[in-house]
Amino acid sequence: MSQYGSDGFKAFIRTPFVRTHRVCRACGEVKRVEEFRPMGKYRRHHCLVCERLMAKTIRKANASNPTWIEKQRASQKRYRRRNLDKIKAYQREYQRKYKERHVDSKPVL
Ligand SMILES: [Zn+2]
Repeated sequence: MSQYGSDGFKAFIRTPFVRTHRVCRACGEVKRVEEFRPMGKYRRHHCLVCERLMAKTIRKANASNPTWIEKQRASQKRYRRRNLDKIKAYQREYQRKYKERHVDSKPVL
């Protein structure tokens, strides 16, 4: 009989394992899961710092590649078209916050 069958070790198998930390596949550092960008139900395996660095490296490497630039522009356009509501909501929120900050920092005459 298998030790993992329905006859035994049920408690062990069903013990909820909550991941609070994760090892980044790029830098190898142990970081909190919040530092890994969520992708739907799961999170990425490269931390935000490494992800930014990778994006930067790719951007720099392709700075003089017109095909890549064109593809990026098309992709950004596509994203904007698909997520216009999200973008507009974010901008409204930003402007509201910015106005508040501006009012607060106004010098008293
Ligand atoms: Zn990393």
